Amino acid sequence: MRSVKPLSRVSLLWGETPVHPLPRFAEAVGLKSCWIKRDDLTGIAFGGNKLRKLEYLLGDALSKGCDLLITGGSPQSNHARLTAAVARKAGMDAWLCFSGKDPGEVQGNLLLDKLFGATIHMTGRYGSEALLSAMEELAREAEKQGRKPYVIPVGGSTPIGDYGYTRAWEEWRRQADRLGLSPVDYLVVPVGTGGTLAGLAVGKRLSPAPVRLVGFSVWLKASEARAETLRLERSLLSTLGVGGGEEGDYLVLDEYAGPKYGVPSREGMEAIRLLARTEGILVDPVYTAKALAGVIDLARRGEWRGKRVLFWHTGGTPALFTHAKTLADGGKENEHRSDRPRSEKG
Ligand SMILES: *Cc1c(COP(=O)(O)O)cnc(C)c1O
Repeated sequence: MRSVKPLSRVSLLWGETPVHPLPRFAEAVGLKSCWIKRDDLTGIAFGGNKLRKLEYLLGDALSKGCDLLITGGSPQSNHARLTAAVARKAGMDAWLCFSGKDPGEVQGNLLLDKLFGATIHMTGRYGSEALLSAMEELAREAEKQGRKPYVIPVGGSTPIGDYGYTRAWEEWRRQADRLGLSPVDYLVVPVGTGGTLAGLAVGKRLSPAPVRLVGFSVWLKASEARAETLRLERSLLSTLGVGGGEEGDYLVLDEYAGPKYGVPSREGMEAIRLLARTEGILVDPVYTAKALAGVIDLARRGEWRGKRVLFWHTGGTPALFTHAKTLADGGKENEHRSDRPRSEKG
């Protein structure tokens, strides 16, 4: 691996996350093999990809003497939940800026934010730019109160945060070498802001391996998601002082994003049930289920038939409980198979 500028880090993970095969799932969809990298098990507050970013973001905040983390997103933001948790672990406070007016039911991530005692601000505005300016406004207010705030943009996607995924790539390569894992054709990850994919792409550039990175966008159109990922990749490269080489070495697809960001898709709900029923593993409706739906469809349609896939589980499982009704309603086939008389509602 090429050497890069060192960044401050606070250790939040318990070590490497597991990587293991999904033989029953692979067989069910027609893949030669499917592996999963369990970043849903990153160890704090139900885990997820944001903890890898927060190791470096918190490191930066502490090295600057900050005592308050300010971040935001949607009220079901996994990133906000994990920021609230790690702020407490570091003896700091968290202020969370959420888009819109009514956060709705206090469930999933929002419930956890409240358990961590985060201060919640509803901005009444939408979009990452509006949120960032709301956070900056809050930071000025905090400074007036004598606090030292550290503002983390939506999704923790800054060069410092995204570097967590450059290190995650190296972790996976080390595991692959140590465990003697056979190569994979595709490494699959959901794409929100694109920071995770950007970090992995930089990792691949620093220590190459013959695998295609594939991001399934769940928010932006493919062209916009790709442009955002490229922008994040470039700023990470310049932060690390790495030049030259090919940028944008990944495929970004948006066909599986469903109706819109945060709204479950039928294919995603099916993906949740299929993985649960073949492997006993849960994915979330907003990110990982939609990426997994892409894997399932490409395999079943034949494009990826017989291929070897690594599915990078990025977490998000607390959001499952905010979609309890849709998920329960979709499980009707259980009722059909049972001997019990059908209920009136059918
Ligand atoms: C934030 C998030 C992502 C997307 O990560 P980005 O770096 O924003 O692209 C994927 N999965 C889950 C569960 C997330 O919370």
